[in-house]
Amino acid sequence: MDRITITNLEVFAYHGVLKEENALGQKFLVSAELGTDITAAAKTDDIEKSINYASVCKSIDLFLKENTYHLIETTTERLAMHLLKTYDRIETIKVEIKKPWAPILMTLDTVSVIAERGWHKAYLGIGSNLGDKEANLREAIRLLNEDDDCRVERISTFLITEPVGGVEQDDFLNGALLVKTLKSPAELLILIGEIEKTLKRERIIHWGPRTIDLDILFYDDEVIQTKDLTIPHPELANRAFVLEPLAEIAPWVKHPIYGETVLQLRSKLKSI
Ligand code: ADP
Ligand code: MG
Repeated sequence: MDRITITNLEVFAYHGVLKEENALGQKFLVSAELGTDITAAAKTDDIEKSINYASVCKSIDLFLKENTYHLIETTTERLAMHLLKTYDRIETIKVEIKKPWAPILMTLDTVSVIAERGWHKAYLGIGSNLGDKEANLREAIRLLNEDDDCRVERISTFLITEPVGGVEQDDFLNGALLVKTLKSPAELLILIGEIEKTLKRERIIHWGPRTIDLDILFYDDEVIQTKDLTIPHPELANRAFVLEPLAEIAPWVKHPIYGETVLQLRSKLKSI
């Protein structure tokens, strides 16, 4: 990925564990590497299509002055997240904050913390077969988007599908979403659990009717197996109601274990 870099921006602010640091303040040197695709800006020679580094520098200065933290670990991480959320074009970021005046009664050049963060791509499956199904799906999407760490980037068309799993129940409305997120997989699972709860998903019968079901299908190309979370979703390759909408928004995305694209998985399922 292309990068725009800022090196040793001087900011006077009040972060530190000692009371004196919070009262007197000190100099911080901030460096940032902004991972972004500069192609469109380079082609058009238009600053609107790039990240304005003057604006980023102002934003860094303001954030470090408006917030006060004890640790530079916290300061660095929060600043990285703040910049990712403020500037849509920043995909990844590496922030380093140096404290050249660290009060340790010894001489040093600087002490610093580096944080590297970025947006992740998660594909979610979404389904409902109780009440106003489309309204349930739209409401779940709205709640996802409302979270500060999530951006719903693509929404498939919703498909009416017959229930699987042997329980006599109404048809489902199913879809797939691409969500850009700053959350870890475990944090994302918590969020979708909260949304399911808000929409009063009833867990009475296993695989029975539900107002909303949200599943994490893929999270980047990660493979995760814990007590609460399996990614990619273990049933993904066996479920037409997942692959069909997913193929619409992610046809070429490869399953990190099977090495096959969503389109390939779908055509295999159809030929059974
Ligand atoms: P299903 O979605 O297969 O119909 P449920 O939604 O009832 O079943 O299952 C919910 C549980 O599955 C959650 O409590 C969660 O801990 C677990 N789970 C494991 N992997 C995932 C995943 N990738 N996405 C969502 N839930 C998952
Ligand atoms: Mg589920």
